[in-house]
Amino acid sequence: LIEKLHGKQKKAEPFKNTRVIAIGSGKGGVGKSTVTANLAVTLAEMGYKVGLIDADILGYSIPQILGIKDVKPMAIEGGFILPIERNGVKVMSMGNLVEGDQALIWRGPLLGGVLDQFMNDVYWGDLDYMLIDLPPGTGDVPLSLMQKLPKAEILIVTTPQITAANVAKRLGLMANKTNSKIIGLIENMSYFVCNNCGEKHYIFGKAEGEKLSKELNTTLLGEIPLVTGIREDSDKGVPSVIDLESEVGKVYKEIAKNLI
Ligand code: ADP
Repeated sequence: LIEKLHGKQKKAEPFKNTRVIAIGSGKGGVGKSTVTANLAVTLAEMGYKVGLIDADILGYSIPQILGIKDVKPMAIEGGFILPIERNGVKVMSMGNLVEGDQALIWRGPLLGGVLDQFMNDVYWGDLDYMLIDLPPGTGDVPLSLMQKLPKAEILIVTTPQITAANVAKRLGLMANKTNSKIIGLIENMSYFVCNNCGEKHYIFGKAEGEKLSKELNTTLLGEIPLVTGIREDSDKGVPSVIDLESEVGKVYKEIAKNLI
């Protein structure tokens, strides 16, 4: 069996029949990892076979968000690793390989090596979607990781307060350098719904996502509200979209539909 697994994955280019979507952001803290994890679970709940690589190798947060901090992936014969499965998503993160919250101080080439291993030495099986949580920003590390993913499309997560023009320029440059297509933009923390008056408050400004998507010549796939529950769910390690009929679940389902 292992021989077969080995042969099957090694011969074919990784993710031959899989749509690879790399999720990036102009800077950290915009909710990129939260969105990636929830989007992956949403797609799995919709019946797709989904993998998630946490390529934010130094700043991993996927294990926390999915509640798998203390789970270790299983090594199998032939030098393969079986990914961790959670909520229907196959996951691989550096956070599941290091002991405790050990700090990693590695340079670029080493980071690239880890991504190579995540792609080639993990037995992913057939997947419909592979989501890659990129390191934040548009610096050398996300750029060189993108270069290792020739067929990846870029999905951007942003918040409204980030000035559109500035981010657009940098993300556009990254896409150009890696010859990849920006397939869409998700605006996170778009608005806050007041518990008392029920109205939407656009705390960080309105229609910024719209503006940015136009500048990047791409689609605004959806706007995710700022909800205390999303942060609480991530702290608990239970993705908010477990119930696709919840308010947050519905927003993600719409985004997933716009993406597929
Ligand atoms: P990034 O990956 O861009 O650095 P994270 O996904 O780690 O950002 O999110 C940063 C913080 O914001 C986390 O505490 C997360 O729980 C919180 N957060 C993300 N999205 C939302 C949201 N829509 N509503 C409330 N809190 C959010």
